[in-house]
Amino acid sequence: MDDTPPPQELDPRTELDLGSVTVLFGAKQGKYPEGNSVLVTGPDETILIDPCLGLIPRQQSLPRVDRLLLSHCHEDHQAAAHLFPDIPIHLHEADLPGIQSVRSFMDLFGFDDYPLIAAGWERVTLDQFHFQPRPEAIPFSDGDVFELGGDVRIEVVHTPGHTRGHSAFHILPADVLFLGDIDLSSFGPYYGDAWADLEDFERSLARVKGIKALHYATFHHVGVVDPATFEERLGRFTAKIEERDSRLLAYLAEPHTMEEVVQHRFIYRPGDAVDFADPVELRSMSQHLDRLMRRGRIAEIQPGVFQSNGV
Ligand SMILES: [Zn+2]
Repeated sequence: MDDTPPPQELDPRTELDLGSVTVLFGAKQGKYPEGNSVLVTGPDETILIDPCLGLIPRQQSLPRVDRLLLSHCHEDHQAAAHLFPDIPIHLHEADLPGIQSVRSFMDLFGFDDYPLIAAGWERVTLDQFHFQPRPEAIPFSDGDVFELGGDVRIEVVHTPGHTRGHSAFHILPADVLFLGDIDLSSFGPYYGDAWADLEDFERSLARVKGIKALHYATFHHVGVVDPATFEERLGRFTAKIEERDSRLLAYLAEPHTMEEVVQHRFIYRPGDAVDFADPVELRSMSQHLDRLMRRGRIAEIQPGVFQSNGV
């Protein structure tokens, strides 16, 4: 009999120090609904990017923060913003309404035709993500720079698609590109909300591909990766879009309605317990359908019935 105790599980990583940049990992290494926040410390200012749920239990150990930056206005990226009610909060001008009121936050999802889903989601954002409107939030634009003293600075890179105002941040001189929800996950790009746009997302993927950095950080569980891993993961992440085009073309080899496309499930797996799967499938796959119709690959053969002309 072997009395050796089983090996201890390693403590999950809670922080990664990259010089003036500290990545604060949420629970489950930032897997949704958790996330990973980034603290940037300069001689004059400390800026916290995307305050995630995981900061709430460790709020006593956080340093003084001078301002908050959000990559975009989704619930999980501002889940701990309520801990900092009196400091300036900045996000891209196109996402600004999404943090100014509950009403405009809900508008970004486009659940108007799904009142039960909308009501449930509003409760979740208020109760579980602590959403608090910030009407005084300050907008930034592509190319804006936040100076933190010395040579520490954060450059805004507008990368719309996931939301209208989604932005990456290039943090120097640590040379970290924070990618927000260009999250390099195996799920692939998410453009299932009313304020999301598939083709903007494609342009943003091409843009970040061209930005050289020493470290690439995502808000969710992929975390921090080196340039070679970034390139490889970005390639696979980008390929998910083409794969969804191809799967739709194959499915529409037989005629189907949009309702059937939604129920077939292209974004989520059949059986995934996601309350808002129907509107997300509809918004996402309508964008694929529209562009494949523009390209002459799919035709509306009867009102509301679609068929492809082969894969
Ligand atoms: Zn998001």
